[in-house]
Amino acid sequence: MRIGIDWGGTKIEAIALSEAGAVLARKRIATPRHDYEACVAVAAGLVDEIEAALGQTGTVGIGIPGAISPASGLIKNANSVWLNGRALGADMERALGRPVRVENDANCLAVSESVDGAGAEATVVWAVILGTGAGSGISVQGRALVGRHRIAGEWGHNPLPWPRDDERPGPVCYCGRQGCLETFVSGTGLAADHQCRTGQALTAEAIVGRMRAGDMDARRTYDLFLDRLARGLAHVVNLLDPDVVVLGGGLSDVDELYADLPARMAPFVFSDTFDTPVRRSRHGASSGVRGAAWLWNI
Ligand SMILES: [Zn+2]
Repeated sequence: MRIGIDWGGTKIEAIALSEAGAVLARKRIATPRHDYEACVAVAAGLVDEIEAALGQTGTVGIGIPGAISPASGLIKNANSVWLNGRALGADMERALGRPVRVENDANCLAVSESVDGAGAEATVVWAVILGTGAGSGISVQGRALVGRHRIAGEWGHNPLPWPRDDERPGPVCYCGRQGCLETFVSGTGLAADHQCRTGQALTAEAIVGRMRAGDMDARRTYDLFLDRLARGLAHVVNLLDPDVVVLGGGLSDVDELYADLPARMAPFVFSDTFDTPVRRSRHGASSGVRGAAWLWNI
């Protein structure tokens, strides 16, 4: 069996998948925030519990909200900052007595959706997470494309492409730059844009609700968001030309996106035709932990 661990900022979840992808066991526990040693103990404990309950051992893959520096082997870029600078892979291997594979959570989404999800028949799957932040991962033939610096897919901190004058230089981003895509196309960015233009402090979910109820301010915010997201996606289609674009994260629940995005992307795609499907992730919130398990698919 394959065991996956989704090492999130609020919970650590473990899943055991059969060879065919059926869920054999699932456990979750609140993340001991800011206590790295306790996190390692919790994650290893979940594996022990699952293996004891099922009476078999498995391979272990781990999805993290960051990346492993190829230079040092240490975690970098994690928004769960207590992971940064830690040798998470080596520490988990020591705790479990076996090799483990560790990947960025967006890469896990891409792997999950390409193995048995919304991109199951596709060769190149580009999975985009639109939630509190914005990021993405790329899977090629079921394997994560990680890149030389293990930053492949770090789309959220590229600039908003084809910016209009009123979009320059753009909001300040925590990464130190201005106008990053994440500041426009994340749920946080959508809410901030709405507040900037209307003075109303609402969540992204509430704005979408108002838009559906006919609120013109919310409609305008959604339309700006759609236009910016379409540009951000088209820019990558021109480079990667994926077989499918899969959306995950909280904003992937906005049904209107799947009908609206293709026509808004097409004018920016450098091709006479454009038919790349944009789909919602099939496994939703479970894609991270399933993808972690599938890191041992190949
Ligand atoms: Zn940034």
